[in-house]
Amino acid sequence: MPAPSLKLPTIQNWNCHNCGGCCKQHQIEITLEEKERIDKQRWDEDDSIPGGKPVIVKLGISPTSQRYRLAHQEDGSCIFLDERGLCRIHAKFGEPAKPLACQVYPYAFHPAGNDIAVSLRFSCPSVVANLGERIDRQEPAIRKIVNQVLPKRHKAPPAPKLTAREAVGWPDTLKAVTALSRFFADPEVPVQTSLLRALGWVELIEHARFEVVQGERFTEFLELISQAVDQELPADLEIPRTPPSRLGGIQFRLLAAQYARKDTHAETAKGLGRRLSLLMSALKFTRGSGTIPQLQERFQRVPFSALEEPFGSLPAESQKLFSRYFRVKIQGLHFLGAAYYDIPFVEGFYHLALMFPSILWIARWIAAGEGRTELVAEDINEAMTIADHHHGYSPVFGMPHFRSRVKTLSRTGDIKKLISWYGQ
Ligand code: SF4
Repeated sequence: MPAPSLKLPTIQNWNCHNCGGCCKQHQIEITLEEKERIDKQRWDEDDSIPGGKPVIVKLGISPTSQRYRLAHQEDGSCIFLDERGLCRIHAKFGEPAKPLACQVYPYAFHPAGNDIAVSLRFSCPSVVANLGERIDRQEPAIRKIVNQVLPKRHKAPPAPKLTAREAVGWPDTLKAVTALSRFFADPEVPVQTSLLRALGWVELIEHARFEVVQGERFTEFLELISQAVDQELPADLEIPRTPPSRLGGIQFRLLAAQYARKDTHAETAKGLGRRLSLLMSALKFTRGSGTIPQLQERFQRVPFSALEEPFGSLPAESQKLFSRYFRVKIQGLHFLGAAYYDIPFVEGFYHLALMFPSILWIARWIAAGEGRTELVAEDINEAMTIADHHHGYSPVFGMPHFRSRVKTLSRTGDIKKLISWYGQ
């Protein structure tokens, strides 16, 4: 079977700038083969390792457990991260000697029929800032990583469903992905408008039946609903600032709080005290009054009400950032199927659209903590790195209670209200 083609984003740049951010956020589980490779590197004889600690930790309490991860330093960063922000394994033995998970980040590879769609994680500040070389010019290096990730006999999995009831196969699913991505292609259209138009289009898909509408007829159907959106929701749409319903506000705060957390190292999330504190904080987010529970050190103590004030229009560069974000995530299939908790197309886009108000809610928290009532681009950049760390990776977003939260927000029309409320 020929090697799958890579569908690379053409609007995104990236090179690692050694900020060390990913080495401070992630717990890296390693395979047995990687453990043996690192054992052979003899780090026990290398005095650069902080505190002379073991570099690998066994996971699980069973004596027969064969799961391992890289150890952390006192401040939570990877044991191999040096004072210059560089990886000791990379510096001493070269990139291929690192665990595969470290080589892959911040890429994400998703099946797209027989091809592989490449997306990126915007938890990396260099991805957010669009720094480095164009991704599509780095194909040979990306292909080397893909070859390690793909099973030897790669076979295309079935296409993700369009809705809970309907499936159309890969060719039509990919047509729908391309049509959805087009809503974010015009840089002159504000991203709030693009999102509302895309949501209107996705709702038409949600209510359609596709048993006989496939192939050519599916293409006609997509054109038809795009024309309907152009008529009903033109690109110069005026968007009034509309508050979410009371129920929508509660559901959204609980969702945004999850995106604002920093529970990256699994072992810190255990224990009765921790569970109680999570419960207390959930109650406060449900109430939505008083001071926002801190969630992580980055955030200052500000009242919930401070985030509900108008913050003015988004900086022009943030409009561009959001358009790029949505195009990379949609074209990279980073919102549905295997990449996203096996969720269908329509529901996955509702989750993705909610990233916009969630990121802006976190950005407002950062700004309000500094006494500002206007957002600057840096607030939004930072908020995006915080929120996107979880997108498609924190298991909680695929759990039934979270999925039902997003379904409620779409059913009540609150996703659109939240976009208008936090977008200005
Ligand atoms: S977060 Fe991005 S720029 Fe920073 S070290 Fe990791 S890959 Fe490099």
